[in-house]
Amino acid sequence: MKIASVIVDIPTQALDTPYSYAVPDEGVGEDGLAPEVGCAVLVTLGGRKAVGYIVGLEEAEEAPGEEVDLWGNPLSASKLKMVERVLSKPYFDEEGAACAQFLAERYVAPLSSCVRLFTPPGAVPRVVRGRDGRWRLEEPTVGQVDDRWVTRGPAFEGFQPRKNAVKQQSVLEVLAQGDARVAELAQEFGAVDSTLKALEAKDVVRIERRRRMRGVGADPSGTAFTPTAPPPLTPGQQQALEAIEAARAAGEGRVVVVDGVTGSGKTEVYLQAIERTLAEGRTAMVLVPEISLTPQTVARFRGRFGDAVAVMHSRMSQGERYDQWDFVKSGAARVVVGARSALFTPLANVGLIVIDEEHEGSYKQDSAPRYTTRDVAAWMMRRAGGALVLGSATPSIEALHSAAKDPLWSQVALPERANGRPLPAVEVVDMAAEFSSGSRSMFSGRLTRALQQELSQGHKVVLLLNQRGFAKFLLCRDCGFVPECPHCATSLTYHEEGSKLVCHHCGYHVGAPPTCPECGSPYLKKFGAGTQRVEADLRALLDGMAGVGPGVPIIRMDADTTKAKGAHQALLEEFAAADAAVLLGTQMIAKGLDFDDVTLVGVINADTQLHLPDYRAGERTFQLIEQVAGRAGRANLPGRVLVQTYEANDVAIRAAASYDRALFLKSELPKRKVLQYPPYVRMANVLVWGKNEDEVAAEAEALHKALEELIRCEVGQRWSVLPASPCVLGKLRNTYRWHIVVKAPAGDDISGPLARLFRARKPHPAVNAAVDVDPVDLL
Ligand code: ADP
Ligand code: ZN
Ligand code: ZN
Repeated sequence: MKIASVIVDIPTQALDTPYSYAVPDEGVGEDGLAPEVGCAVLVTLGGRKAVGYIVGLEEAEEAPGEEVDLWGNPLSASKLKMVERVLSKPYFDEEGAACAQFLAERYVAPLSSCVRLFTPPGAVPRVVRGRDGRWRLEEPTVGQVDDRWVTRGPAFEGFQPRKNAVKQQSVLEVLAQGDARVAELAQEFGAVDSTLKALEAKDVVRIERRRRMRGVGADPSGTAFTPTAPPPLTPGQQQALEAIEAARAAGEGRVVVVDGVTGSGKTEVYLQAIERTLAEGRTAMVLVPEISLTPQTVARFRGRFGDAVAVMHSRMSQGERYDQWDFVKSGAARVVVGARSALFTPLANVGLIVIDEEHEGSYKQDSAPRYTTRDVAAWMMRRAGGALVLGSATPSIEALHSAAKDPLWSQVALPERANGRPLPAVEVVDMAAEFSSGSRSMFSGRLTRALQQELSQGHKVVLLLNQRGFAKFLLCRDCGFVPECPHCATSLTYHEEGSKLVCHHCGYHVGAPPTCPECGSPYLKKFGAGTQRVEADLRALLDGMAGVGPGVPIIRMDADTTKAKGAHQALLEEFAAADAAVLLGTQMIAKGLDFDDVTLVGVINADTQLHLPDYRAGERTFQLIEQVAGRAGRANLPGRVLVQTYEANDVAIRAAASYDRALFLKSELPKRKVLQYPPYVRMANVLVWGKNEDEVAAEAEALHKALEELIRCEVGQRWSVLPASPCVLGKLRNTYRWHIVVKAPAGDDISGPLARLFRARKPHPAVNAAVDVDPVDLL
């Protein structure tokens, strides 16, 4: 008999703890699966059946009847409930179980949400309540898919079908070319089952089941790649590689920040570091932001490591993800390339994790567990004795700070592009001055001239505007009314396509009113240009431009034009194939794009991020300008960058324009220190939300009191708790949102005390509360 610690997968607001169940060594249930750490099991809890996951397994000891463990579970197996059935082979091992527990502790999250990260989505059994009110086990909907294949049998060569056996002849003709799927044959020739049966009986063909690997979203063929050979490294790349090698050799979870300008060849450094890792018999993971996970990215890794590369991201179907997950689990994959969640695929013996574009906000998960990919990867590599590489042209302030302070961290710089080309010159265009000189266009005189010069020579242009839709909002000139979302406390964005007002937070949309719904005035003005508006104005501008004209395509890329599967890719291909062309888009175009003939990058309005009420606004603006500038002049043609702004004196913008990170940090760091923001403190954002505004406010106040009490008792003056207040986004999807910010000295364990408070907290029936540890924003 064994005692299993089981995390029961019941969605609850409360933080859960593992429960103990007894389980016979040989397992239970007809499937003959032995209980192991990582298995799904069927258990009873509080009178209902539930699926749980084993996170610990121990021999049952002869304990005196009354003793209990830390969680209050009896220690004697005879007092415990039994596991009713073992439902699966293990999804994760002891290390995965330890990681789930680490995540739950550090991010003050339900254990069940942490364990779920390690399971393939859709492919695990669930317990659901049927129409009759009874709980029953539901088998997973996602799993392996087999195809029936027809191959040539031993009697194939000599066989002559009868003259009138037309279908047999057709099938045999196809098979003479090679194996075929039964489904394909049926599609071509109609029902073929009896034909195949007859042929199989004569040993002319064989029918067998083969597993189908559903196409990987980013690369439908799954295998299309051209093998590449590693080029000789530049001296800078060589140094970076050596730093990573030294970090790996130390085997203690060192972190190397590869601080390399756009086009400096960071990816080549990753490739060669991975190659060495694999040569030592270990495996590697590469994480990239979801939006950069294009077929080109995957092809670069497949080009070097071939079929040993698994791919994992959220645009793949559950079936595709299951196949990749299983491929990793089988041990055949040696490299996983994926988005954030790929960190939890069952890749064994990982010796190297690379996080590319480390500064990206998307590396923070925004639902429980609200983990920071960088910190979890660092934890994993410390445990595994591997190394973590953080690559970026604009490393986060946190990473730069750790690299300077933490003995396990180091930093290497790649200040030049791999091909020796200079970084493009960046000019700041003062739009306030343009405005006072009488121009009302959103294209400054300088940007207009630059567009004409570059497009007329057949070059490409990238234009960035961080606002989709046509106009940011409508405003009644007579009464000042602004249409707002009925479900969110935000204004609605005007979309010219379909003439509608859309909420960018919840998707709510209505037809745009012809007159003001408040006062009936016809003067509704559209404020704040979005990508649709810029597209329309730019079209008019280019059509009348000498040497440019209507033939030059404008490719708009934003959340609206990239909704369909594959749309993102198709737009990029259209841009690549064109001669002169403009790629106009939101920040999704700022990263990773590598087109030889982009000679001009324009930022329509660099201020959109700067005015967000968030302490990272300056850092984000600096990063965005540097990243988008990096799209210009990547090959033989020189590039230039024009940044339009009403804040030409803002230090984030000036510093980005001169590639002067030190200048930016010199202004930013003292501000963060004085105002008590990371990296000088650790923060936790306690979020409180629910449908009833008063209840949410009252619960937030109550939590605030409890937090003050907790901190007074447990840590004293060193921590501070800000008053409970409505979030900047105070209402989203009919949900009212409040928050309480907790700050602690940088080295402190901010999670422990908060986890204790939340474990002890009685869940409120109508108000949710959660902790966001190390939040990326406080909106
Ligand atoms: P980053 O990831 O730093 O933006 P990339 O890895 O995409 O840069 O490299 C930029 C370009 O330089 C790519 O076209 C790449 O093939 C090329 N490149 C990188 N390293 C070398 C090298 N050592 N020799 C020649 N070309 C290189
Ligand atoms: Zn009005
Ligand atoms: Zn809304």
